[in-house]
Amino acid sequence: MRTKINLLIALVSLSILFNSCKKDAPFVPLFSISDDIKLGKQVVTEIEVTNKAQYPLLDSATNVAAYQFLYGIRNEILNSGKVVYKDEFEWRLRIIKDDTTLNAFCTPGGYIYVYTGLIKYLSSKDQLAGVIGHEMAHADRRHTSRSMQTQYGVGTLLNILLGNDNATLQQIAAGIYLLKNSRDHESEADEYSVKYLCPTSYNAAGAAGFFQKMIDDGYTENRLASFFSTHPSPANRVENIQQQKIDDGCNGSGTFDAEYNAFKNLIP
Ligand SMILES: [Zn+2]
Repeated sequence: MRTKINLLIALVSLSILFNSCKKDAPFVPLFSISDDIKLGKQVVTEIEVTNKAQYPLLDSATNVAAYQFLYGIRNEILNSGKVVYKDEFEWRLRIIKDDTTLNAFCTPGGYIYVYTGLIKYLSSKDQLAGVIGHEMAHADRRHTSRSMQTQYGVGTLLNILLGNDNATLQQIAAGIYLLKNSRDHESEADEYSVKYLCPTSYNAAGAAGFFQKMIDDGYTENRLASFFSTHPSPANRVENIQQQKIDDGCNGSGTFDAEYNAFKNLIP
């Protein structure tokens, strides 16, 4: 009997080991939602005050129409009924004036940043909505704070929250657009970018349009495309996103090209 129990324990241990090899290591969330928000605010201060030369913001007071366009996309996503922390997170959005970077990111606690390089590169509104949805999913599904816990360790992050590790906070802020998310997190963010747009009139597979455009233009992991340097290869992602749209029965097909071009003309 004892041998049987030992064997059972050994088998269970093995299965845990193999499962954790296949997927992410079992994750114990030690951070609360208010920790996410607090850490996000600290990163925002580093981005917008200490590192403002690296992250020059497009002034929201003098670029009202451009910001309104983006707020409109953000609000439609927030009203999808699929954003868990819709009311808890601020979902503040800022444009970074950097035409050379094809990227967007979102800090823990839902502070969204979109580069002018990405805005100018894309050709339709559903593509941008798909990418913004993808980034918002990283915050709402709490991928970003989990990745930071994996990369920096929970003790370090708690020290930052207490104001005791400014050096690491600065390091996080300086490299946040390069923060590695796991493959599972990327797939889930792609999936949610579809779910967020599903109740709207947008083509819910907008993020796939962005990936396809990058593939068509020859952007690969070997070339300097920061979105792909922080995200896994686009292989299968286009197909998965389009399949998700079918599986979820999303009927919207709007790409709003003319509206999007008018918006691009607002970006200096
Ligand atoms: Zn991502």
